[in-house]
Amino acid sequence: MPPPRPPVQGGKPNRFALFFFLIIVGVFIAYFFRSEAPSVQEISYSAFTNYLERNEISAVKILDTNVIEGTIRESSGSLRQFKTLIPYQDPSLLPTLRERGINVSGGASKVSPLRIFLEFLPWIIGFGFIWFMMRNMQGSGNKAFQFGKSRAKRYQDEGKKTTFADVAGQVDAKYELQEVVSFLKDPQKFTKMGARIPKGVLLVGMPGTGKTLMAKAVAGEAGVAYFHMSGSDFVEMFVGVGASRVRDLFDQGRKSAPCIIFIDELDAVGRTRGAGYGGGHDEREQTLNQLLVEMDGFDSKDGVIILAATNRPDVLDPALLRPGRFDRQVMVAMPDIKEREAILKIHSDKIPLSKEVDLSRIARATPGMSGAEIANLVNEAALFAARQDKPTVEMPDFEEARDKVLMGVARKTLVISEKERRMTAFHEAGHALLHYFLKNADPLHKVTIVPHGRALGMAMSLPLEDSYSRTKGWIEDRIVICYGGWVAEKLFYDETTTGTKQDLQQATEMARRMVCEWGMADEMGPVTYGQEDEPIFIGKEIARHKEYSEDTARLIDGAVKKILDSAKNLAESILHTRKVELEKLAEALIIQETLIDDEVRSILGLPPRDSGSSLGAGLAEA
Ligand code: ADP
Ligand code: MG
Ligand code: ZN
Repeated sequence: MPPPRPPVQGGKPNRFALFFFLIIVGVFIAYFFRSEAPSVQEISYSAFTNYLERNEISAVKILDTNVIEGTIRESSGSLRQFKTLIPYQDPSLLPTLRERGINVSGGASKVSPLRIFLEFLPWIIGFGFIWFMMRNMQGSGNKAFQFGKSRAKRYQDEGKKTTFADVAGQVDAKYELQEVVSFLKDPQKFTKMGARIPKGVLLVGMPGTGKTLMAKAVAGEAGVAYFHMSGSDFVEMFVGVGASRVRDLFDQGRKSAPCIIFIDELDAVGRTRGAGYGGGHDEREQTLNQLLVEMDGFDSKDGVIILAATNRPDVLDPALLRPGRFDRQVMVAMPDIKEREAILKIHSDKIPLSKEVDLSRIARATPGMSGAEIANLVNEAALFAARQDKPTVEMPDFEEARDKVLMGVARKTLVISEKERRMTAFHEAGHALLHYFLKNADPLHKVTIVPHGRALGMAMSLPLEDSYSRTKGWIEDRIVICYGGWVAEKLFYDETTTGTKQDLQQATEMARRMVCEWGMADEMGPVTYGQEDEPIFIGKEIARHKEYSEDTARLIDGAVKKILDSAKNLAESILHTRKVELEKLAEALIIQETLIDDEVRSILGLPPRDSGSSLGAGLAEA
């Protein structure tokens, strides 16, 4: 990664040196003038009255500030200027002066500008000094006065760029991000066509899957500036700091368009507002609000694209995901066996590898490891080899490194045992197979036993077209597919796992809605029962208002049960008759981890699908 640019320092300190020089010159000039001024002697009032007694005063001028200025004619005949302060009030003064025939005049006191300057000089110097210190501290990288600055790290084309070639696998994610790259390369091309470019793209994936790497690669591919900031950088102990950092970050971005602003760990600022129990989330909410405001406040026409990454999309405030904000999500998935091999290849290119090292074997031996863990594994292996003064890294080094990394992984995330992996394969194969033998089901997109979130695997389907309403047949088939995993486990292991929980929940939820909301159960008729609303503080269950009797409730439960039973029976009958294919599919999954539609078809001996479906929205999983 290229080093961040050093902070730019202007010619400020020079100007301050000049400022101080001028002050010092001023002091000298003042001193000079002072000594040149006609010498006015300050005398006490009693001395003045003595001179008066002796008739040695020739003229006086009484000023409004209780000061007398005058001239003394000494016995020698020489004249001398004097000045004195009248201490309190002397009513006898004027009569005495008149008696002695002294010329009396009055006047306003003149204060010389020089005097004013001299009086204020210490203050000027003091403030000048403090100001100077503050500027200096900022310049030298001291952040004491920079709370509101974004502190975004900026990377530019210096050094080696990260590109998509540095990211192994992730074909789907790269495909989606390619559009962002081509937009940043030539914004005019798109804006001329009036095309709407996504403003924000959210990278979603488990820790270590390469989200940060991917964002850097997008910037590198497009050759634009890249501002990196982590969500937790916004959160400080002072209220308002986060918001002003957001403002500053976007200002910076606007100034250097085209560019990418990348907010890592978005969930640190983007959590749902108002969901706390005790309140007091003001600072984070302000920051989030500012982020929303800034995102609304500019156009992707400006050439700024916001990328963000999170591994908890579920806790994000819905406002962040609305159109015009992070309206596009890109899944960054855990690597499967082939991708793990590619990641191994990328990282082991940098180390001297012994010829006998078999990367595909290492890939096979590291199920469930993320990209970051594999990068770590390669590094550990190199360390083991170096410790033994070997010229190259050999297979035993990798084995030892793997054990070490796996032990760390075991504590952090899930390690999958071989038995779990096999059961997961049969479970997912059960889901997958049903897609091919149900009339109304969407075609399968891919099936995988690579863990996603809390699920150990998944089978994703791909609708042929977008649809916003579903037919009864589609929903029924969907419920059957949900049972695929459960039935397959039962069929081959005669027992089921906790991995079926989500499937059963989904199936039950759909069946209940068929009965209560969509009027799809014949015996209940086209009527809705109950209504839902979701207050934040109370669970959903409590909030479902019952607007029907106990008898109706029993009828609803019966209808739901009937739907679920018939779905389960259908799943069982299909999978029983296709037991051989199911086993073949599961075994293939254990070896390859991920299978796409075409691969499944060739395993099942089905003709390839006439293509036409491409990657796109609307993936469903089970
Ligand atoms: P995340 O931000 O998703 O937690 P990172 O982008 O920080 O993950 O990944 C950490 C490191 O793991 C990367 O710097 C890279 O070395 C390695 N890595 C992760 N995924 C990949 C991949 N697909 N290809 C190559 N290296 C990867
Ligand atoms: Mg990261
Ligand atoms: Zn399942």
